Order: sequence, then C-alpha cells, then structure tokens
Amino acid sequence: MSHHCISCGNDLSWIRAVPDPHYGLPVVVCPACDVACTRRKPPIFTAIRRFKAARRTAVTLLAQFLTLALLAGMSVTIIRGLAGDAASPATAFGAILYGMTNRLNEQVLDSGFEQDPEMIRTILVVFLLVSIGAGAWIRSAHGHLRLWVSVLCWFALIIGLLGIGYGEEALSRTMNMQNLHHLTISRELGAAAVFLFFTVPFVALGLPLGTRARKIWIKQYSAKAHKYRRKLRKHRMSNARHAAR
Ligand SMILES: [Zn+2]
Repeated sequence: MSHHCISCGNDLSWIRAVPDPHYGLPVVVCPACDVACTRRKPPIFTAIRRFKAARRTAVTLLAQFLTLALLAGMSVTIIRGLAGDAASPATAFGAILYGMTNRLNEQVLDSGFEQDPEMIRTILVVFLLVSIGAGAWIRSAHGHLRLWVSVLCWFALIIGLLGIGYGEEALSRTMNMQNLHHLTISRELGAAAVFLFFTVPFVALGLPLGTRARKIWIKQYSAKAHKYRRKLRKHRMSNARHAAR
C-alpha cells in the first residue's frame, strides 16, 4: 500500500491511522509537517472488495436457483410420470394406498403399474423426500417471507409447470387430430392433482426443518459479526489511548 502526505509528499504508509472521534475516519498525521489527512486506499482495493461482494451475491443466487430448479424439476417429473401410469384419480389413490400399506389393490393391478408395483414404492419415497426438501428450502432460503406466501409460491410454480407441460401435450395432440385422447389427458390431470395434493403434508413437514436450519445459520452469522465488532471496538480504544498519550 502506498500513501503520501498531501502537503510535503512524505511517505505515510508506515504510520498507523487513528480513527478520529467524530466520524471514525482513519486519520494520519504527517510527522514532518503536522498536516493531518485521511488514509487513502488505492481504488483498486475498493474495486476488489466490491467484486468479491458481488461474486458472493451471485454465487448465493445461483445456488438458490439451482436448488429450486432441482426440487421443482424432480417434483414435476415424478408427478407427470406417476400420473401417466395411473391415468385416473382412482388409480392414483390406489397407488398411494399401495405405497403406504404394501398391499396390492385392484386399482394398481389394473393400471400401468401392474408390471412392476415395487417401483411405485421407490418413486413415492423419492417423491416424499423431494417434498420435505422443498418445504425445508422454502423456509431456510425465504424465512423472511410470510409462510403462506412462500408455500403458495411453491405450489403455484409446480401447478404452473404442470400446466405448461400438459397444455403443450394437449396442443400437440389437437394438432395431430387425436381427439380421442382428450379424455385421457383430463383423467391424467386428475391423477396429477391427487399426487400433488399428496405432497402437501410432506412439504409442511419440511417447513420446521427449514426454520431450524435458518435459525442456526443466522446465529452463526451474527456470532461472527459480533466477534468482529468487539475486535474493532477494542482496536479503536487502544488507538485512542495511544493518541491521548
Ligand atoms: Zn507532510
């Protein structure tokens, strides 16, 4: 670092700056001519600090976006996959019932799940974990928002993505003049709604986990900030004592 006296050009970089009592500016008094000036940091340091802060913000935003994309993408993919095989709200209920009780029922045996019923259980477990993860993410990343707002945003996003997917499918079927399949799509929508509704309690289960994670994180962060502030105060007090002497 270089810092020269504004009056005589003496090198001041080796002199410790003392915060002035009024504004806390780092003041350096030139030993040669007694002119006081504030410590100047070359603009490049400020630029580096700003760049680092901007990078930190960008990384946080990117991580949040990727987490959201992963959770929402998995939810929508699983719902569409399950609804495609169930193809009716009743079968969707049957599949969930089978997943919870492990007892095969007519609904499952009559559906696309027939070939491999064991697969439903595995997919449902992944689905539950993704839903709990979504609940935890909502609260840990967006705990500053009202609870109902963040929960509403999540379900609006999932319903929106499902709507885009099914809308596109319905449109392409209409273009191909496969009018008979319109019935299938509305039943598939019903099944998708059942699976989506099934996630609600598990998203709710994730919410307190997220709140907890956020509290721990804030506690750690504020402890660090507190430590830093104490160090700074101590430093200033010792400087003031030196100046008084
Ligand atoms: Zn000077």
